Amino acid sequence: MFVVGLTGGIGSGKSTVAELFVARGVPLVDTDMIAHRITAPGGLAMPHIAAEFGAEFVNADGSLDRTRMRTLAFSDETARKRLEGITHPLIRAETEREEREARGPYVIVVVPLLVESGAWKDRANRVLTVDCSVDTQIARVMSRNGFSREQVLAIIARQATREARLAAADDVIVNDDTPLEELEAQVDAHHQAYLSLAKGETES
Ligand code: ADP
Repeated sequence: MFVVGLTGGIGSGKSTVAELFVARGVPLVDTDMIAHRITAPGGLAMPHIAAEFGAEFVNADGSLDRTRMRTLAFSDETARKRLEGITHPLIRAETEREEREARGPYVIVVVPLLVESGAWKDRANRVLTVDCSVDTQIARVMSRNGFSREQVLAIIARQATREARLAAADDVIVNDDTPLEELEAQVDAHHQAYLSLAKGETES
């Protein structure tokens, strides 16, 4: 399957753009949803997390105690690495399974941290970055999540820079003060290009 990796900073409009591809019949794999699912009750990562970190990190319903894990992972780099050692291979395996099962001309895989987690660049046939200014990100996330300006800035500071995401991109969607029709037009143009690239790949 021809894989388009869709990325962008928080509030750039990844979900909005992803939905526009879905509306054009393109199957979607969302790595954030997979990350959430493997740490939900009965999730694939939970037995490993319990064994590695102890039962106190598991809620009564069998899901990950996110608050407790977040506190640990933020203060302890080694713990964060140990957690990622469990979750990343599982996310990758689940993503690949969903890619294989997807039915459509090509598949869009939403990877918020594609640029940060280097391996992704080789796994996607194309990297599509949704780009907007930091000011736009701040305004959107403040209004969507009710976060303070400082909270949004702290999240942005932990992500790759706008420049790094643009440098990693094969294709860019500009989503600043972009009216929906303009966003749709950009999605249409990329969709057409991906259809022919994907077709070329299956024929070769
Ligand atoms: P991400 O998934 O990258 O965090 P979202 O797609 O959720 O970003 O977009 C963040 C917020 O900004 C959402 O509330 C969304 O509705 C809004 N938004 C995204 N693009 C636009 C746009 N072009 N014009 C107005 N609002 C937008």
